[in-house]
Amino acid sequence: MTASSLAETSAAERTFAEKPAPRLNDADTLAQEIVEKLTYSIGKSVKRARLHDWLEATTLAVRDRIIDHWLVSSHETAETGAKRVCYLSMEFLIGRLLRDAIANLGLTQSVREALARYDVELDLVELLEPDAALGNGGLGRLAACFMESMASTGVPGFGYGIRYVHGFFRQEIVDGRQVELPETWLKHGNPWEFERRESAYEIGFGGKVSMLDEAGKPPRQVWRPAERVLAVAYDTPVVGWRGEHVNTLRLWSAQSLDPILLDAFNAGDHIGALLESNKAEAITRVLYPADSHQAGQELRLRQEYFFSSASLQDIIRRHLRENETLSNLADKVAIQLNDTHPAVSVAELMRLLMDVHGMEWDEAWTITRATFSYTNHTLLPEALETWPIHLFERLLPRQMQIIYAINAVVMREATQGQGFDDTTISAISLIDEGNGRRVRMGQLAFVGSHAVNGVSALHTELMKETVFHDLHKLYPSRIENKTNGVTPRRWLFECNTGLASLIDETIGPGFRDEIGELKKLDGFANDAAFREKFAAVKRANKARLAALVEERLAIQLDPNAIFDIQVKRIHEYKRQLLNILETVALYEQIRSLPHLDWTPRVKIFAGKAAPSYVQAKEIIHLAGDVARVINSDPSVRNLLKVVFIPNYNVSLAEIIMPAADLSEQISTAGLEASGTGNMKFALNGALTIGTLDGANVEMLEHLGAENIFIFGLDADEVARMRREGHNGQSVIDRQPLLRSAIDSISAGVFCQEEPGRYASLMNSIRDRDWWMIAADFRAYWDTQRQLDMLWKKPDDWNKIAVHNTARMAWFSSDRSIREYAKDIWRAGPDA
Ligand SMILES: *Cc1c(COP(=O)(O)O)cnc(C)c1O
Repeated sequence: MTASSLAETSAAERTFAEKPAPRLNDADTLAQEIVEKLTYSIGKSVKRARLHDWLEATTLAVRDRIIDHWLVSSHETAETGAKRVCYLSMEFLIGRLLRDAIANLGLTQSVREALARYDVELDLVELLEPDAALGNGGLGRLAACFMESMASTGVPGFGYGIRYVHGFFRQEIVDGRQVELPETWLKHGNPWEFERRESAYEIGFGGKVSMLDEAGKPPRQVWRPAERVLAVAYDTPVVGWRGEHVNTLRLWSAQSLDPILLDAFNAGDHIGALLESNKAEAITRVLYPADSHQAGQELRLRQEYFFSSASLQDIIRRHLRENETLSNLADKVAIQLNDTHPAVSVAELMRLLMDVHGMEWDEAWTITRATFSYTNHTLLPEALETWPIHLFERLLPRQMQIIYAINAVVMREATQGQGFDDTTISAISLIDEGNGRRVRMGQLAFVGSHAVNGVSALHTELMKETVFHDLHKLYPSRIENKTNGVTPRRWLFECNTGLASLIDETIGPGFRDEIGELKKLDGFANDAAFREKFAAVKRANKARLAALVEERLAIQLDPNAIFDIQVKRIHEYKRQLLNILETVALYEQIRSLPHLDWTPRVKIFAGKAAPSYVQAKEIIHLAGDVARVINSDPSVRNLLKVVFIPNYNVSLAEIIMPAADLSEQISTAGLEASGTGNMKFALNGALTIGTLDGANVEMLEHLGAENIFIFGLDADEVARMRREGHNGQSVIDRQPLLRSAIDSISAGVFCQEEPGRYASLMNSIRDRDWWMIAADFRAYWDTQRQLDMLWKKPDDWNKIAVHNTARMAWFSSDRSIREYAKDIWRAGPDA
C-alpha cells in the first residue's frame, strides 16, 4: 500500500493486520505520555505524584506499546491459522514485569531519561513493583522463561494457569524459624492484566452421571454437576525480545455464579448468604494449600480440575471460531502439560469431545493423544501425584468413568500386544490398587500424550529406568529429552547490565539477538585486561548484594571473600545440610588452626521450605543458628560469615546470581531433574561446585571438566549404596572433621537455649544417611579446599569464570523452545 492510499483510509477502516504506525520512542515522547497517564488515568499532578503513581503511569505508557504488538500478533496467528501452543502450568513464577518489558522493547534509555526530567529514578520505580508470586520454584520459573522464549522465538503461545490472589507465601524468619505470611501482590491492583468477562466458563463439581437417550440420537452420558463455579480469564501480555511478538498468559480466577444469596441475606443470614461465594473463591486463593488433611487435598484437586477445564473449554471455543470441526484440533493446537498438575485434562478433553461435542471414542482418543504432551519434573516417589478414588469419583464422577475406560484401552494394548505379566500390568495401570486405590496422574498424563519428556539427559534416562520403566516398554518411542534452559534476557541482559555492556564492548551486541555468539568471548579468557574488567563487574555486583544484606540483616560482608551461594527451595535432596556441615567443619578448623592461610568465605543461603515439611524447616533453623554463632565469634576474624536471606524470589535471584563467585549445585545424584539455578549462576560467571546430577552433567560437557568442580557419588553409585543398605555411622567414624561437626551440632553448640534441637536431624545422617550426606562429605570438603587454593590465583579463577559465561549459550531457553517446537509441538516459525 502506498503512502497516499494509506492516507485515504481512515484509521477505523485499517485492519490490525497492518502494523500500527510505529510510536516514537524518544525520551520527549515518553515523558509526555507518562505524564498524560499520570494525569488522566491516575488523576495525579506531577507535583503530587508519589513514586508508586510514577510506577503505574510508566507501566501504562509502556503497556500501550505492548498492546500495539499484541493485537498484531494475535491477529496474525488467527489469520494465518498458525498452530498455537498452550502451556498448562499450575505455576508461573514471572517476577516483576516492568523492567523486562522495557528492556525487550528497547526503551530502557529513553524511559530512564523521561523519568529523570521529573527527578524520578527508573531503578527506584521498578523496585516498587510487587513480585508476582505465582509459583514456588524451578518448575514455575521454567514456565515463565518458556513464555518469554516462545514470544522471543515467534512461537504463538498461550500460558494457562491460576490467578492466585495470594500466590505462594511470603517468608519471614522470626527467632530463626520460617514464618509463612500471605503474599499480597494484588494489593495495589495489577496494571498488567486485563479482565476478560466475556471469556468465562462454568466449571462443575460433584453430582451424577446418567445416560441420555434422546429420540433419533445415539445414547450418551451426561454429567449433571451438583456445584458450578465460574472461571473468569485475566490476560497478561508477554513481550518477547525486541517486542516483535507478544503472547498471552491467561490466568483463571474463580467466582461464584451467584455472588450473594439474596433470600438468605434478606432473611438475616448475612454470613450464610456469602458462603457459596467464599467457597468458590477459595479455589484461586493460594498456591499449594496444605494438603496434609482431607479438605486441603480436595481443594488442590479442585484447583487442578478448575484450571484444566477452563483452559480446554477456551481452547475448544477458539478453535471452533476459526474452524468448522474439532477433527483437526491436533493440527491447530499443541497442549503441553507442565508436570502432572493439569493431567486431569486428558480425561476432561475426552469428556468435552464426546459428551459435549458428540465425537466417538476412537476419534476423540486419537485427537487427545495427538494434542497433549507431558513434561515430567521429578522422580521422587512422594512427589508423584495420586488421588484417592473415592475423592476423585465424588468430585469428578464422569472423568473417573473415562479414566477407567482409558485404562481398559491401555490394559488391552499391554496384554494383547505385548503379553506383559501381571506385575508389569499393575505397574502400568492408571489405578494403584496397593494403597487404598488411587488414580495415578503420571500414568494418565503419559498414556494421554504423544510425547513425554524429561528435563535433562540424565533425568530422561532415569525416567525410563524408574518411574516409567513399564510404560516405556509398552510405548518405547514416547519418552524424549528436552533439557531446560533460562532466558538470557532476564538472566543476563537485565539482571547483570554491567556484564552485558562489557560483552557489548568486547564482541559487539550481536549476542543479544543470537546468544550463540557468546562463544566469541571464550578467547578473551586469556586477555588480562579483559579479565580485569570482568572481575570489576563481579566486584560491583557483589557490592550491590552486600548492600542488600547489610540493609536487611545488618551483617557486613567482605567483598574480598568468596561469595559461596546456595539459593533454591529447601529440600533434603538439595542438601543444604551438606553445605551447613561443611561450614561448621570449616569454622572448627579455622578456630583450631588459626595460623593457617585461610581463604575468606561468605556462605549465603536463601530458599523457602514447604509449610508442612518439618525437616526442611529445621534446616533453615539450623542455618540461622550456625550463622548467629559464627558471625559473632571474633576468633574467626571475618574469615567466615554465614547469612540466610529471607523470602527468596525472582527479584532476589536477580541480585544474587550476578554476585556469586561460587554456585552450589550439590543435590544427591539422581534426584535433581535439571536445575535452572545452576544455569543462571554459570551464565553470570560463577564457578560451580556440584554433583553429576540434572543439567550439571550437560554443563560439564559444554564447559569442559577444567571449568566446573564435580565431586561425589554419581546416580548409579547412590542407587547401589542404597540397595546395599549404606549407613552413615560407618563413614562418620572414619572422618574426624565430619564427626566433630555432627557432634557439635547434636550437643547444642549452636543452640544452647535448646541443646536437643537438632538431635533427630543429626541422627538421620548417622543412621540411614538416605541423602548420602556423610557419604559425600569428604569429596565435597576436598573440592572446597581446592577452590580455596584457586581463589588465591585470581587469574586462574577469572579465566574459568569467563569460560563459564562464554560457554553457557546452549542453556538458553530459546534453544529448549526451538527443540519443543520442532520435535513435539510442530509449531512455530519453522513448522
Ligand atoms: C531459578 C529459580 C529457581 C530454581 O532454582 P534451582 O536451583 O534450579 O532449584 C527457584 N526459584 C527462583 C526464584 C528462581 O529464580
